[in-house]
Amino acid sequence: MKVNQLFNKHQVISFEVFPPRQKSPSIDFSRIYGTMDALSQLDPDFVSVTFGAGGSKRQAGTLEIASLIKSEYGIEPVAHLPASQLTGAEVDELLDQFATHGIQNILALRGDIPKSGRVANDFVHANDLVAHICASGHDFNVIGACYPECHPEASDLNADIAHLKLKVDAGANQLISQLFFDNQVFYDFVAKCRAAGITVPIEAGIMPVLNQHQIQRMAEMSGVSLPEKFTAMMARYEGNPIAMRDAGIAYAIDQIIDLLVHGVDGIHIYTMDNPTVAARIVQATRSLVRA
Ligand code: FAD
Repeated sequence: MKVNQLFNKHQVISFEVFPPRQKSPSIDFSRIYGTMDALSQLDPDFVSVTFGAGGSKRQAGTLEIASLIKSEYGIEPVAHLPASQLTGAEVDELLDQFATHGIQNILALRGDIPKSGRVANDFVHANDLVAHICASGHDFNVIGACYPECHPEASDLNADIAHLKLKVDAGANQLISQLFFDNQVFYDFVAKCRAAGITVPIEAGIMPVLNQHQIQRMAEMSGVSLPEKFTAMMARYEGNPIAMRDAGIAYAIDQIIDLLVHGVDGIHIYTMDNPTVAARIVQATRSLVRA
């Protein structure tokens, strides 16, 4: 099923998981089974699988994990496809394999740039990859990424949204946002997108923050701003990992309830492969999502 169809029915709830770091040629799927056993109980609309996120080291396993999510759990997978890490020929080979495995949804990305530089330059921007997938002869639902606080490389938010419009015009049917901690930033972004003629559903990316190290890393990588309420929480519970985790979960739940009542198209939870945390969040908000 193409997951963009779901937005007409209800507010969508989805998760992101990532393949295990690969130390040997064979992939250790045990952790992903543990994660999926738990996430599948939560009845998500789809689960997306990253590919080389962070750009630090190319990961394998996206195709295999997306396939098992579909065949063994009956959940729609979304396969991430980062252009910076793949040649045109590799992209075409993966598209064929996705189609063969019944994977119908692709998150088309420019991709994080590895420290050693781009592996390939066949698709400079995500809109080039989106256009290529749409012209490939396959019938995929193509999804794009978006950045409520502006992509770090863009000159300003207006320029970034103009580029986002190119991605949608090239064929992206839905968007998933970068994580954010201030809902007003997301509401303002969505309003600007609508004013720019971007009409496709925009899912809000939510990451429950569980420890200080995680948030520092995320803030550095993605440039997200931290509202006073959030930094006060971190300062208060610094040095108390259990309290910090509980506060991080409560903060995410608070964000999600506010987004739902403001009519958000969907919520995409960056699970960091921690199904226990995802479960606590979904259990606290489950009755609201499809109400
Ligand atoms: P683009 O849309 O190409 O944008 C990148 C920059 O180029 C922006 O500054 C934009 O304004 C500019 N730009 C875009 N189009 C044009 C144009 N036509 N002309 C001039 N400038 C342009 N990375 C991974 O490697 N693997 C993953 O699995 C992964 N998953 C992600 C999931 C989500 C939901 C998100 C939000 C990000 C994810 N990333 C992942 C990170 C992403 O690859 C990086 O943020 C990357 O730097 C940008 O990717 P993009 O597809 O948004 O690029």
